Amino acid sequence: MKILVINCGSSSLKYQLIDMEGEKVLCKGNCERIGIPGSKITHKTADGYQVERDASFANHTEAFAMLVDMMTKGDGAVISDVKEINAVGHRVAHGADMFPHSCLVDEEVIAKIDSLSEIAPLHNPAHIQGIRAAQRIFGDIPQAVVFDTSFHHSMPSKAYMFAIPYNYYKEYHIRRYGFHGTSHRYVSKKCAEIMGRPIESLKIITCHLGNGSSITAVDGGRSVDTTMGFTPTGGLMMGTRSGDLDPSLVTFIAEKTGLHGNEFLRTFNEQSGLLGVSAISSDARDIEKAASLGNENAALAQNMLCYQIKKYIGSYAAVMNGVDAIVFTGGIGENSSTVRETVCQDMDYLGVKIDLEQNKKRGDFIDLTAEGAKTKVFVIATNEELMIARDTLALCGKMSQPAEG
Ligand code: ADP
Repeated sequence: MKILVINCGSSSLKYQLIDMEGEKVLCKGNCERIGIPGSKITHKTADGYQVERDASFANHTEAFAMLVDMMTKGDGAVISDVKEINAVGHRVAHGADMFPHSCLVDEEVIAKIDSLSEIAPLHNPAHIQGIRAAQRIFGDIPQAVVFDTSFHHSMPSKAYMFAIPYNYYKEYHIRRYGFHGTSHRYVSKKCAEIMGRPIESLKIITCHLGNGSSITAVDGGRSVDTTMGFTPTGGLMMGTRSGDLDPSLVTFIAEKTGLHGNEFLRTFNEQSGLLGVSAISSDARDIEKAASLGNENAALAQNMLCYQIKKYIGSYAAVMNGVDAIVFTGGIGENSSTVRETVCQDMDYLGVKIDLEQNKKRGDFIDLTAEGAKTKVFVIATNEELMIARDTLALCGKMSQPAEG
């Protein structure tokens, strides 16, 4: 069974073709700048072939046609006919409280995803374009949708409610939803497998740290709290996102600067976080380098990030009455030994002590736990695409029942 996994952004389309026998990635790639001058496709196959080609795609359907071409023809071909693709799995950012599980696509599902475009304007309309384009190209093969929010459905109301008038929750569904759920679900499962223990018996804190970052408390395999909120702007500071703020800042800044409406969204989503504090870059590598060369604002940004991660780990250990394992994942979590070392310093009260030699290593899995330390600390490379493919496979098997994590 071959499953095409799709992650559509407003102007991009990332894909992976996975052969579920052996869970092998046959090829992967990215169509960039869809509908914008300068569009291109990059395509890589399992045996090392790699190509970047300028192409002009006006919309997602044209991008799909191009990736199908890449997969079926020429040196990058991994299948001989598009009919070899049995199903498509789509990543969807926001499922709000409508989708507790991944599900197969039908018109009702598309309408529900569309109804959430108001709270996910950058993501959900693009996902629908991707689904429609896939329908045009692949006909009626099964398509599944896997939501970033579903894993967090298990949060109790005391964790997902905001302390604002209850009416806003009832009328507008304003609450914490949480994101990166597919990643938190994947790495927490993997963590339990690595520890050789049933996930039901474990308290795990998963730190997904990338351009977007979130931390989740996973108690017995269920998300019980997570840092991101109603939208992916909340929680930890990120590359360009502010994370949590004092709400009174909005009116204060408005009075001082005249900023209003969407300008706030732009400020808090695109000009804040590591970029806002450092005034150098949103990229953790640039920040780390500048900090090591003595740039004070870069050092401040990095210290703030590590401090916030530590603070959430502590609060989630409190929420779960302990922690058996902490997992680092995402671009920063998997690669930045500095961030991991700083976060894990002075956490002996939690039984956390990492082995600094192990921490220098790179790889999809690293056990950082120092000898004798009670709490495990792991680096586990995330694999959201594989999780999406697994859900899609399960749904194709059941055809109508919800997929379980
Ligand atoms: P996204 O959230 O867009 O998927 P990623 O998970 O790819 O992002 O993470 C991107 C972040 O990972 C960037 O801030 C980048 O600087 C950081 N990163 C990647 N490699 C390293 C590294 N070797 N050291 C520190 N940070 C790194």
